[in-house]
Amino acid sequence: MAEILVLVDHADGVVRKPALELLTLARRIGEPAAVVLGAGAAAADIAAKAGEFGAAKVYVADGAEFADQLVVPKVDALAQIAKAADAAAVLVTSSGEGKEVAARVALRLGSGIITDAVDLEAGDGGPVATQSVFAASFQVKSRVSHGVPVITVKPNAVAPEAAPAAGAVENVTVAFTGNAATVVARTPRVSSGRPELTEAAIVVSGGRGVGAAEGFGVVEELADALGAAVGASRAAVDAGWYPHTNQVGQTGKQVSPQLYVAAGISGAIQHRAGMQTSKTIVAINKDPEAPIFELVDYGVVGDLFTVLPQLTAEVKARKG
Ligand SMILES: Cc1cc2nc3c(=O)[nH]c(=O)nc-3n(C[C@H](O)[C@H](O)[C@H](O)COP(=O)(O)OP(=O)(O)OC[C@H]3O[C@@H](n4cnc5c(N)ncnc54)[C@H](O)[C@@H]3O)c2cc1C
Repeated sequence: MAEILVLVDHADGVVRKPALELLTLARRIGEPAAVVLGAGAAAADIAAKAGEFGAAKVYVADGAEFADQLVVPKVDALAQIAKAADAAAVLVTSSGEGKEVAARVALRLGSGIITDAVDLEAGDGGPVATQSVFAASFQVKSRVSHGVPVITVKPNAVAPEAAPAAGAVENVTVAFTGNAATVVARTPRVSSGRPELTEAAIVVSGGRGVGAAEGFGVVEELADALGAAVGASRAAVDAGWYPHTNQVGQTGKQVSPQLYVAAGISGAIQHRAGMQTSKTIVAINKDPEAPIFELVDYGVVGDLFTVLPQLTAEVKARKG
């Protein structure tokens, strides 16, 4: 069976969940083969994890280039492995970096690319990807008609499923092309201890309805009870109540969690564009006519400062 290359995103020696989702999807369209780049001493553990989730083969490449330069070394490696393995498709996570890597790999391979897929299935002419477009008003199914399909997939498209496979490691020597942007300094981001917004299975977001920066306290408390990430509408972010990095929407981050809770958010089209593909949507808004109620699975008409603390207390009580 033809190999489906999966670029394994990892941090601090741990495989990120979206990479396990890609391996799960890859099994539908061929034989998953993981590509682990720049993992250093953690490479063996990462390869083993990829094997647990269905990778028959794991291509491992190391080198200071992966840490010292941006994007291009990964493009060099992925394109060279795809050619050598005669891969049937290349899957990459739809992060900012992932999409840049994928676009450059597609260019190197002379292939078509599909970005931000939310589902993947086998088709007669190759893998068929589903995209959710125009603020999630339409589902589009498409396939690459030229070259090795390069597809980026949004986090949370599928639940990762373990499926032990050989995970046979093949060490690869990459011919680096150089000419890359070089990292000159790094500043660790202050961690909130919460999951990464775009990868989180649950997101709790606050909007202008929280009234002030302090109003996000009830949003954070619910998020922490649920083990969720915190999002914000642009109105809340522009007011300076929450960091720009947490903005959800057309000009913010695109999220697609299992559960999205919108508190004090009206549901403007630009906000919907970033969250409408969430599997289950819950809104709390004191205005029964708020547009957000048009797309929710569950809606609560009420004051968020009354509803959220009750919800938090109930979640904590059930968790015990
Ligand atoms: C080019 C462009 C790009 C944009 N990109 C984005 C984007 O990426 N993300 C984004 O979010 N927006 C974006 N916007 C802005 C968008 O149009 C809306 O202005 C914004 O989403 C409104 O945010 P909001 O729902 O928090 O505020 P509002 O529209 O003011 O809604 C606040 C809601 O809170 C409710 N409320 C008030 N008090 C309470 C309470 N105590 N309890 C419960 N409910 C309460 C109100 O009934 C109301 O429905 C963009 C706009 C443009 C023009």
